[in-house]
Amino acid sequence: MNRYWSPLVARLSPYVPGEQPADLNLVKLNTNENPYGPSPRVVEAVRAELGDRLRLYPNPESDALRDAIARLHGLTREHVFVGNGSDEVLAHAFQGLLKQSLPLLFPDVTYSFYPVYCDLYEIAYQTVPLRESFELDPADYQRENGGIVFANPNAPTGRALPLPQVERMVLASERVVLVDEAYVDFGGASAIPLIAKHDNLLVVQTFSKSRSLAGMRIGFALGQPHLIEALTRVKNSFNSYPIDRLALAAGVAAIDDREWFEDTRRRVIESRNTLSAGLARQGFEVLPSATNFLFARHPAHTGAALASALRARGVLVRHFNKPRIDSYLRITVGRPDQCAALLQALEHIL
Ligand code: PMP
Repeated sequence: MNRYWSPLVARLSPYVPGEQPADLNLVKLNTNENPYGPSPRVVEAVRAELGDRLRLYPNPESDALRDAIARLHGLTREHVFVGNGSDEVLAHAFQGLLKQSLPLLFPDVTYSFYPVYCDLYEIAYQTVPLRESFELDPADYQRENGGIVFANPNAPTGRALPLPQVERMVLASERVVLVDEAYVDFGGASAIPLIAKHDNLLVVQTFSKSRSLAGMRIGFALGQPHLIEALTRVKNSFNSYPIDRLALAAGVAAIDDREWFEDTRRRVIESRNTLSAGLARQGFEVLPSATNFLFARHPAHTGAALASALRARGVLVRHFNKPRIDSYLRITVGRPDQCAALLQALEHIL
């Protein structure tokens, strides 16, 4: 506590992102980045934007990128909001839509940024325990609430909820239901087709994972225009230009290169299946994953011990020291050579 801090800041427990090491020789499987680079067309588009134009502010409403996203999903620009990473989009949604007098509901095991936003914006919330094996049951959300947020597929478990169940979640609230689809392109079913039918559904996605642009910080929300307008009102009361010129150019080019997107995500899915089988052969219990990571535990070793033994062998994975999940490792699916290095390191450790 510092005497200059506001009481709110003194109370915060900020989100802690996974390590971004300076040592590039480490096998980095800890923050769910895409192991393949972005499309060469993205690199070209960013280069073309580098120059004198950088002295000018970007388009404040990111129209070209919103149009590209809208076209991809058969919607209009008015259904799309873009922000500086989906974290920023989520933050605006928490502040502009999910802060109500009744408590916001979300699962006990999910993206750990949700309670952080609640504390920052002073939003009342209740966590709802996932069932055994971390399955979400929409029946558990049939109670009074000021909104619902859940990740589908979920993080860090990797489990996906089928679309009919997602729709039951949307019907469980008279307020906004936010589906965080950061990982949906690796095997989940997107709720985007439900947007036309439900005026309280907001879907949030990111360019960080399936479009290999974590370093560019681009996320977006899709929903009916009245929901998008709330986010725009928050944005324009906070930062008029969250998407810079380079990110705008990169985002549009990433959407244009459909082939690169399809090819890289297919490769990640193939590696996931190989890695999952490899871990199972070593005695790991691996949850089914619809994402670019695996959630796994070994009956004979603690998660913390495995994570630090792997670190000592140059392999980074994520371990969460939290109730229910502290025996697990969250392992990002890498290139085949990275997955092989992980399995080899585990072979020695086990
Ligand atoms: N949602 C979930 C479930 C995530 O795991 C992440 C990545 N940490 C994000 C949102 C945020 O991703 P970004 O800000 O890079 O778009």
